[in-house]
Parts: sequence; C-alpha cells; structure tokens
Amino acid sequence: MRRLFIAGNWKMNLDRASAIELAGELAKQVEGIDTVDVAVCPPAIYLEAVGSAVCGTKVGFGAQNMYFEPNGAFTGEISPTMLCDIGCDWVILGHSERRQIFGETDELINKKVQAALQAGLGPIVCVGETLQEREADKTIDVIQTQVDGSLADLTVDEMKRIVIAYEPVWAIGTGKTATPEQAEQVHVEIRKMLAAKFGEEVAQVVRIQYGGSVNGDNAVDLLGQPNIDGALVGGASLTVEKFMAIISKVC
Ligand code: PEP
Repeated sequence: MRRLFIAGNWKMNLDRASAIELAGELAKQVEGIDTVDVAVCPPAIYLEAVGSAVCGTKVGFGAQNMYFEPNGAFTGEISPTMLCDIGCDWVILGHSERRQIFGETDELINKKVQAALQAGLGPIVCVGETLQEREADKTIDVIQTQVDGSLADLTVDEMKRIVIAYEPVWAIGTGKTATPEQAEQVHVEIRKMLAAKFGEEVAQVVRIQYGGSVNGDNAVDLLGQPNIDGALVGGASLTVEKFMAIISKVC
C-alpha cells in the first residue's frame, strides 16, 4: 500500500518570517495526522530556517533544486552534501520551470538524481507534457523520454527511493487541472514504464504524485484515483489554510 505524500513547492515566494511562520503553523496542524506524509520545499535561502521550524515534527523539508557535484567552483550552486548537512529530506529535480526557463535536460537531471541518491536525499523527479505536446497526442512519448533519460542507470533499490511527480505543464499555476481520469491515465502509463524498466515490484511501490493547480476542491477526486499517490502543490501550499484544505480532505 503506497502512503500518500503531499509536498508544497513554494518556488521563489515568501520572506524569512512568513516562511518560518507557515512551516511552524503547518507542523502544528498536521500533528495528529498519521496517514499522509507532508513536506515543504522553500527557497534555498530559507531552507535552514524552515528546517529548524519543522525539526522534530511530522513535516519534512526539501530543496527545489541542487547541482550534482559535491563541492567546487560552481558559483551560485548548492550541492547534495550541503542539503544533507542541514538535514534536508527531499529535493525536487527536473521541475518544468527548471527545464523550460533554465534549460535543464534529462541528462543533467539524471546526474542530479544519482547525486541526490548517493547523498541520501529523496528525489522528487518531475515529468510532464506541454499543451502543444498533449494536443499533438505526444504525451506518453514525451513522458517515456523523460522517464528513460532522467531515471537512467538506477538500480532497483535506488528507484524505490524516488518519488515521481506527474505535472502537465499546461496545468501548473494556470488554474487548469487535468481531470482525475486524464491524470490517472498518465499515472497508469508511468507505472507501466517503471515495470518495464525496473520490474513490477518497483512499479507498485514507487509513489507518483500529481501536480498542477491542486487545491482543496479538486484534491479528493484526484488523489482518490488508484494510481495517484499524493500531490506536488505550488500556489495552494503558500498559506496554511489552502494547504491544509488539501491535506485534511485526504488524510
Ligand atoms: C508546481 O509548481 O509544481 C505546481 C504544481 O504549481 P501549482 O500547484 O501552482 O500549479
């Protein structure tokens, strides 16, 4: 049985005080919840402060990105070792904004995934098609390429530690959500891809989150699908009320 996992991607939002307050309040409100894993991914500069705010609580925390080298002359970058050093649990890799705005390729994402695993972090690996790709009926081909590239050369045990986030690009931050049926169909296909690459056992244990305008109104229908194991939430993770509206409906 896969346990639901709801993670908030705060992107480049909030300031230090509001990040600490949001994380602390969230930790209080999920205290009695035992059926869902919850994590927040603040901007890198607030990671340590948020880590302190959630320390010893049920809320995990993670980064939104990292570089694959452990240290060295990589100006502006943060390493997996550094994320572990401050107690991070998770790291989001290959988010569509990293792919589209910063030109990240599957090859680079794969190096990051391998480095994150080696350091002991839990990678949340994002895949998803653009609107043009969906309209051209290329959704599954695009995701197959992303799965093959970003998850290349992993062992079965490594793959079991990964969370995949299916995030149709056209649904991110747009208020347009994939229907539960549309999302479930892609999740089923991703599970088939995992089965072909890593075997049926792995395919059944890997959690696949859905991301794209998830909120308190659509969470139950989306997360009620048999192959949707949680959500990666952007906008609705920026206030305790909106984030808890999702968590409290599925716990
Ligand atoms: C995201 O950033 O991963 C995301 C899904 O954003 P939103 O929930 O705002 O669509």
